[in-house]
Amino acid sequence: MNRAVYPGSFDPFTNGHLDITQRGATIFDELIVAVLINESKTSMFSVEERQMMAREAAVHIPNVRVLSFDGLLVDFMRKERSRVILRGLRALSDFEYEFQLAQMNKQLAPETETFFMVTDAKYSYLSSRGVKEVFQFGGAIHEFVPPGVFRRMRERVPPRGVR
Ligand code: ADP
Repeated sequence: MNRAVYPGSFDPFTNGHLDITQRGATIFDELIVAVLINESKTSMFSVEERQMMAREAAVHIPNVRVLSFDGLLVDFMRKERSRVILRGLRALSDFEYEFQLAQMNKQLAPETETFFMVTDAKYSYLSSRGVKEVFQFGGAIHEFVPPGVFRRMRERVPPRGVR
């Protein structure tokens, strides 16, 4: 079985992440969305919440599973018997970081291959960080995130003005 892992912080899961997940699921037999338990990063949502939101958003895709991991991605890959890391690329600015990460993972686990999927143009500006910033300043975010994420964000921070 050709199983790929799509790792990320997903804080929160956006429509850009969903697009990569949907497209990835048509290429690989199984796609594991792997939510990073990032203790050092201050995240808006707990790992359980991030997982739940991703799961809700991808519920209609039968060959997608949402799990969490901490520590090294390559250890998680071995545990899940996957050799393919799926990552999304938005702009040239993503490239340097992604390139380093891919090389580092290759060094750590030569059997792994990183596959990049280029963002759909309509999501090229979309990032979790951008969504959080717009939201915190009262901007409308419903078109950037799946409905379940929108609901949870509104629960987290009571609406201020029109959202
Ligand atoms: P990380 O903290 O690992 O960068 P993110 O949750 O920000 O995690 O992103 C996970 C992956 O999804 C990364 O490969 C990132 O480049 C990609 N990604 C994020 N937003 C988009 C988008 N709008 N379109 C395509 N790929 C995206």
